[in-house]
Amino acid sequence: MHDSPTPGAIRVLRVAVPTPLRRLFDYRATAPPAAGWQPGLRVRVPFGRRQVVGVVVACREQGERPFGELKPVAECLDETPLPADWLWLCHFTARYYQHPLGDTLHQALPVLLRQGRPLAGRVREQWLLTDSGRAADTQRLKRAPRQAELLAMLAQHPHGLATQAVLAQGFTREQLKALDAKGLVTRRETPRTAAADPAAAHLLGEPALPLNGEQAAALSTLHAGLETFHPCLLHGVTGSGKTEVYLQLIEAVVARGRQALVLVPEIGLTPQTLARFRHRFQVPIVALHSGLTDHERLDAWEAAASGRAPIVIGTRSAIFTPLARPGAIIVDEEHDGSFKQQEGLRYHARDLAVARAQRHAVPLLLGSATPSLESLHHASRGDYRHLRLTRRATRHAPARLELVDMRGRPRQGGLVPPVLTAIGETLAAGHQVLVFINRRGFAPTLACHACGWLAECDHCDARLTLHRQPPLLACHHCDSRRALPDACPACGSADLRPLGSGTERTEETLAAHFPEVPVHRIDRDSTRRRDALERMLAEVRRGEPCLLVGTQMLAKGHHLPHVALVVVVNADAGLYASDFRALEHSTQLLEQVAGRAGRASHPGRVLVQTLHGDDPHLRMLAEYGYDALADQLLEERRAARLPPFRFLALLRLESPQEAAVTDLGRHAGEALRAWLTDRELNVDCLGPVPAPMEWRQGRYHLQLMLGADKRSRLHEAGAWLVGWLESNPAARRVRWSLDIDPQTL
Ligand code: ADP
Ligand code: ZN
Ligand code: ZN
Repeated sequence: MHDSPTPGAIRVLRVAVPTPLRRLFDYRATAPPAAGWQPGLRVRVPFGRRQVVGVVVACREQGERPFGELKPVAECLDETPLPADWLWLCHFTARYYQHPLGDTLHQALPVLLRQGRPLAGRVREQWLLTDSGRAADTQRLKRAPRQAELLAMLAQHPHGLATQAVLAQGFTREQLKALDAKGLVTRRETPRTAAADPAAAHLLGEPALPLNGEQAAALSTLHAGLETFHPCLLHGVTGSGKTEVYLQLIEAVVARGRQALVLVPEIGLTPQTLARFRHRFQVPIVALHSGLTDHERLDAWEAAASGRAPIVIGTRSAIFTPLARPGAIIVDEEHDGSFKQQEGLRYHARDLAVARAQRHAVPLLLGSATPSLESLHHASRGDYRHLRLTRRATRHAPARLELVDMRGRPRQGGLVPPVLTAIGETLAAGHQVLVFINRRGFAPTLACHACGWLAECDHCDARLTLHRQPPLLACHHCDSRRALPDACPACGSADLRPLGSGTERTEETLAAHFPEVPVHRIDRDSTRRRDALERMLAEVRRGEPCLLVGTQMLAKGHHLPHVALVVVVNADAGLYASDFRALEHSTQLLEQVAGRAGRASHPGRVLVQTLHGDDPHLRMLAEYGYDALADQLLEERRAARLPPFRFLALLRLESPQEAAVTDLGRHAGEALRAWLTDRELNVDCLGPVPAPMEWRQGRYHLQLMLGADKRSRLHEAGAWLVGWLESNPAARRVRWSLDIDPQTL
């Protein structure tokens, strides 16, 4: 006896299931949940020979196929639909990135929800031992060993354990009920919806800093648009006080009873960053990072979806966190490459943040010392408010880059004599030095001095990197490893030598040169253990003279107040790369690294070694800084008709069979061009051409590029191409994906 709207009429459910197929599947509706069938409910459905968890997208009276042919839904997993804002974002993402909806929903759900675990309701149910439970003799449960184990587990959680946590450990509700019936455990319910107390008095754990003029102007602009879509680019050098502006924007948002979502780059979600937020605010802060267990992740998701957590901070995938009362979205280091997912669903979290803020009609704050050319372009057109912080909130002006010509100079561990001298002087003055080298390992490769053989990867067009700790040859593109050869595999000579320098070799050289100070190496290899990086940085923050050698892990997020000299071992990598974005990305990185210098009471120096000291881009960066170079790069992009003045999509094809990719690439290109000539879409199709590293991870890589002046046109062509590939049997033997707004070519 339902009184929900016409529940009897719904007979067919259109369901998005996790498959690479770009279509939905109809199922026969079975017994509905109490509130009736609605879009957004998770269901378990038969799919092929398995059962999968899908999401209801539409409820109908009739499907396209005869009703009798439809398989019934096996089970409805939810009482209420998944959050509406989250569903909207998934639909938007699937459409924009031309990705299957079922897979998009699947990727955007916490793992436990993908697996069909229940969403906790409005109350949080917890289980505790009773007095007799604590005193219980396990002999009593001899015949129920799982109950005995459950009792033992609960004994370890004196403050109670949520039902979900119990189920996640593989126990059942029946076991809980049995223990309850025996009087050994008891159930407690705490409300989940308790919203944070919006009274500002309870909000702050420490007072906000008095702002300088520029910060205050930025904040008042933000305050003026709290109720509307209000995109702003907060553009200020490292240390200019951007984070303080974020914190005070969040304060205003939370004081109005709303939630703030903060996205940070992978490298930026450090315990230091979190500590700064947690000191400032007394309200719950949910942090979404890779160290969470599946269970913690689900808890965080629910805390955000229910509104219990006023502040949510996380890396790329946190953009898919539902919010009950969205109030602002902040993207820190908005130019950072880690916001783009480079496989599967190739979304860009910053771009989705823009879409989401627009949908919610809330302010969007993109912050960076080195904004992406896209965001600068938006700011210059007036799409975004351009908020500038030109001074460091405290202390010194940012250091200029000094170019050091490496040509004709001897190198030790990659460093030339004048740089070694400068390092010695800085250490002698009692300061710290940071040496940035964008290569981990001992040396970029191993070479035979007798015949010229170079260690190369069998699975990639790439050299193997020589590592000493432990000794081996490793490919940084496919992770394959090889033992060090005793002799040259080509000529048998034993004269094998490392070629070039990586972090390990620079560390070794510096340790030999400056034996009286410690050398800390910071790269992916030295920080595999989770707390290793934090321990090293804590040591560095004590301020004793020392040397830091590291990769871009050192470039961002960490405050290193005692570093007075930054050395960039080689600035040339991005200068002449084939990828049109390489220069933008490498200069952003240089500026970020340079920003580490001179944050303390002494001005810093930044020495940049190069073989191309007269390169005009590098000179411009050194003499006038990133902003001037960015203006120039934008002009070059405009002239070359490249993003942000044009929109691109890249069809990526890969297969172990060279012929399979070349044939498919050629056919796809021909078919698309034929389709395009019949229409006047003004979409160009270039290629297919081999990818920059054609042979990689044991596969051939080929790409077809689409370009258009209008985004909608590009999407039309992309959609057609995807449809063509899906209906082409030859495409099943090739892995393919369409990358909308590719960040790397
Ligand atoms: P950014 O995020 O731009 O790198 P931060 O917000 O981290 O800059 O600020 C850099 C340093 O300056 C921090 O130690 C911060 O506490 C301090 N700071 C920021 N704003 C102010 C201010 N208005 N008054 C005093 N100190 C400030
Ligand atoms: Zn040889
Ligand atoms: Zn490889």
